[in-house]
Amino acid sequence: MKKDDIIKLYDEYVMKTYPRTPLCLARGQNTKVWDSEGKEYFDFFPGWAVSGIGHCPPRVVEAVKRQADILLHVPNNYYHEWQGELAKKIVSHAFKGKVFFSNSGAEANECAIKCARKYGKGKRYEIITMLKSFHGRTMGCISATGQDKVKIGFEPILEGFKYVPLNDSNALKEAVSSKTVAIMLEVIQGEGGVNIASKEYLAQLKEICKKQDILLIVDEIQTGMGRTGKMFGYQNFDADPDMITLAKTLGGGMPIGATLVKDKIADLMGPGTHGSTFGGSPIVSAAATAVFEAIEKDKLLENTIKIGNYLIGRLNGLKAGFPFIKEVRGFGLMIGVQLDIEGEGIYKKCLEMGLLINCTQKNILRIFPPMTVTKKEIDAAIEILKKAMSEVKS
Ligand code: PLP
Repeated sequence: MKKDDIIKLYDEYVMKTYPRTPLCLARGQNTKVWDSEGKEYFDFFPGWAVSGIGHCPPRVVEAVKRQADILLHVPNNYYHEWQGELAKKIVSHAFKGKVFFSNSGAEANECAIKCARKYGKGKRYEIITMLKSFHGRTMGCISATGQDKVKIGFEPILEGFKYVPLNDSNALKEAVSSKTVAIMLEVIQGEGGVNIASKEYLAQLKEICKKQDILLIVDEIQTGMGRTGKMFGYQNFDADPDMITLAKTLGGGMPIGATLVKDKIADLMGPGTHGSTFGGSPIVSAAATAVFEAIEKDKLLENTIKIGNYLIGRLNGLKAGFPFIKEVRGFGLMIGVQLDIEGEGIYKKCLEMGLLINCTQKNILRIFPPMTVTKKEIDAAIEILKKAMSEVKS
């Protein structure tokens, strides 16, 4: 089908909830994608951080094909061979506890919110979250998100959320009340602009949580599965979460959400308290197990640290020629380039020249190539970025 016809169908039949770029993607392989007219792009923001181990990762494709021939779906009142195996994998990389499977990041966070309320036994229900956070689009998740833009038009939002600035421990201490049951954060805010929690803040937060029996929920939907150079972002810090939420790269391109919670919370969530028809189906669980296998066997954490440092170095190298670059920050391959001009023009120029990146909060470029990216691909992408920046400057 031709690009114009594809777009016409969307225009007529699909809700217009996304600001879309007129790009129709037809094929992807690792760091590259091709559009419906055959043009090739480097994808340095693959699948909005879903394709973190590349497009169509061979181990995942193989697992999906194998499972598709056997059994696609098993309802959650029965058992199948993959769900327990995947839960064990997640636990083995994080902490002792139990996993609930769903289909998206928002659902993973909804489960965490419900678990926290259950733990509060009706007496404590307040959850403190961070300003500039992003936790998803369900009513619970827009209530948890510390940005007004996601809430406008959908009021009244859920009761019981308080927002504090990231890295301000005084504000956090002031916000804690006898009703506080949990604190929820991204250790590196993604959509909010690659804002990194400080080591001291997270250490203080740990103290507060321990002293007052407050649960720590870490939203690892963007930071998880290796992107920061550790399997989970919190492992870069002195943090002891009671729950982590996962999605995006966990499925390697297949839709999955997961909430890992410590046993003291899991034990409260008995039959009938929560559920998802599709959650943890054989095909997505087999795919996610293959994602772990790829990260472990193909040594992707090691590559992420090494190549991430190289990319941060190359981006910092651009500062001299482009003074509008204020800061390059990140961990591993979760990198934000803070500009003091709007980033939309650079994003568009990059697109024209065959490089996909993202611009968030108007002036922060998000550069998140897959963990499989090579030095050569980074060099090629930097050349495009340089040209795009020169054209915007002139
Ligand atoms: N949490 C974070 C940190 C995210 O970045 C996102 C999506 O961008 C979500 C939650 C929501 O995930 P989903 O879109 O899969 O519901």
